[in-house]
Amino acid sequence: MKSMLKGILLLFFLSFNLAFGQNRCGTSDRLSRQLEHNSKQHAYHMQLEEEIIKWKGNKKTSSIINIPVVFHVVYKNTIENISEAQILSQLTILNEDFRRQNNDQINTPSDFISIAADTEINFCLAQRTPNNDTTNGITRTETTVNSFSLYDDRIFYDSLGGKNIWNSELYLNIYICDLSSVLGFAAFPSSNQNINGVVIDFESFGNTGTAISPYHKGRTCTHEVGHWLNLMHVWGDTICGNDFVYDTPTQESSNYGCPAHPSPSCTNNGDMFQNYMDYTNDACMNMFTIGQKTRMQATLATARQNIVSSKACQIPYEDIGITEILSISNNSFCGNQLNIEVELSNFSANEVNSAVITYKINNLPSVNYQWNGNLASGSSTNVIIGTEAITMGSYELSIYSSSPNGFDDLDLNNDTLEIFFDVIEGYAYNIGIITDNYGDEVSWEIINQNNIEIASGNNLTSNSLNEYEICLEYDSCYIFTIYDSYNDGICCDFGNGFFSINDVVFTGSYNDSFSIDLCDLTNYSDKIIQTTNIYPNPSSGNFVFLSKTLISQLKIYDLNGKMILNKEPMSKSIEIDLTSFKSGFYAAHIKNINGNYSIHKILKQ
Ligand SMILES: [Zn+2]
Repeated sequence: MKSMLKGILLLFFLSFNLAFGQNRCGTSDRLSRQLEHNSKQHAYHMQLEEEIIKWKGNKKTSSIINIPVVFHVVYKNTIENISEAQILSQLTILNEDFRRQNNDQINTPSDFISIAADTEINFCLAQRTPNNDTTNGITRTETTVNSFSLYDDRIFYDSLGGKNIWNSELYLNIYICDLSSVLGFAAFPSSNQNINGVVIDFESFGNTGTAISPYHKGRTCTHEVGHWLNLMHVWGDTICGNDFVYDTPTQESSNYGCPAHPSPSCTNNGDMFQNYMDYTNDACMNMFTIGQKTRMQATLATARQNIVSSKACQIPYEDIGITEILSISNNSFCGNQLNIEVELSNFSANEVNSAVITYKINNLPSVNYQWNGNLASGSSTNVIIGTEAITMGSYELSIYSSSPNGFDDLDLNNDTLEIFFDVIEGYAYNIGIITDNYGDEVSWEIINQNNIEIASGNNLTSNSLNEYEICLEYDSCYIFTIYDSYNDGICCDFGNGFFSINDVVFTGSYNDSFSIDLCDLTNYSDKIIQTTNIYPNPSSGNFVFLSKTLISQLKIYDLNGKMILNKEPMSKSIEIDLTSFKSGFYAAHIKNINGNYSIHKILKQ
């Protein structure tokens, strides 16, 4: 196969010089000349052909591919400095033609309709320059060059009266100028990156302004972008030639004007002169084929793969912010080791993958933390940005975010949070008590080893979470006792109460009181460390979340980072209903009362 392909290609390239003296498109002639003079490019061109063949066994992975486009207008006079409307008309035509949304698709003959393709390629106007400045996707350059010609590369260079190309691996560069010998030409993927763009004569561009009939419907550009994506002319540039696409009929030569269908040649039942890769009038063209789509998709998966992930159509700034300082509540911190944890939120329309978070404690030098991750638009994530050893005293902590995706931050007002807090050295205990129906019978206390009461509470709210944070000094052991004045505990005759201390949950019944030695907390035999179970998962819509610790908050996000559900159940179990939502993966963010935070993937079938 390999050697046969080589043979075909060689034959094909050598026969270029037989090409026709017409001027609809100069791409093949330029390519032929490049390959003749550049053996390296010739080898690369052939290698790409083999890569396409290899790729064809693969499946396309993403759905619609978005190609960022920059239009470079290079003009000698005001007429050539075409309007934005004319440029946008061309962008619309590209999208209609490549997505088969062109109104004249109804003219595709019935025998070709089954192979006419939506190529699933879309074109977007660049929003950022290669230097990440804002752009409208259009550059305008005044030139002293009267007109550019086919073998003339001056159009690609500032210094020669043209415009330097933008990184052609990340942008489709479309030049509009006065082109003297042809209506347009394009670079094949094998071409030198410095000249790897598309050039169109200003009178064959778009469907308004300076466009002149019969090349006034933007199909010159559709055709040239076809070449840029590695398509050849449907007749293979030689008599009854091969365009390496299986479903375009072999045809004798190019067609001009608008023939009547069927117009047979070679051994076919009719030339496909409706194909954008023929030479007919703009009004006569209306289709790419499935085989051409495969070849273009293969090219986008191989030689032009970098443009698929180009961010050139995203605005060059993002907006993130610090929305919560998680490590400190009630302006106090218990302990001597502070994990500085914040909630980082993405307010921009795009995913943010990096940011700098800076914190400063009192007058100490500020500390930068480089965050990298995947934060979808509209979503938040918790980030531990540093650990500081601290001693008893008063502190000021200021935290701010910057440099989202390496860009400027759009809104500086949501970037900074500041907090004043006191540090108490000791062990932190988080106590949660859910009572039965009689919260007023419940009270609790903590005593130290000298039987002195350190903390207490009474008259609790029935059937809901009563929460306490307590900081106990290191140098003593403590006993926590919960009382019930009616001598029937908080479970299980008049409600199903229970209590938790940090990660340990105590369930079951007692009479007048129940005591816990806090110095021995983790050794209680009935301790249950926090876990969350989700069942069934996958599910057709109803999911039950069952946690050993109270779930204080449950948020469900879709894969775009959009929050679709937010509940504060204060319960160890919660059932949610996603029946009305699309099938697919969702992320469940669970916060437990002890502050633990976890993310679980759920699949709605
Ligand atoms: Zn062409």
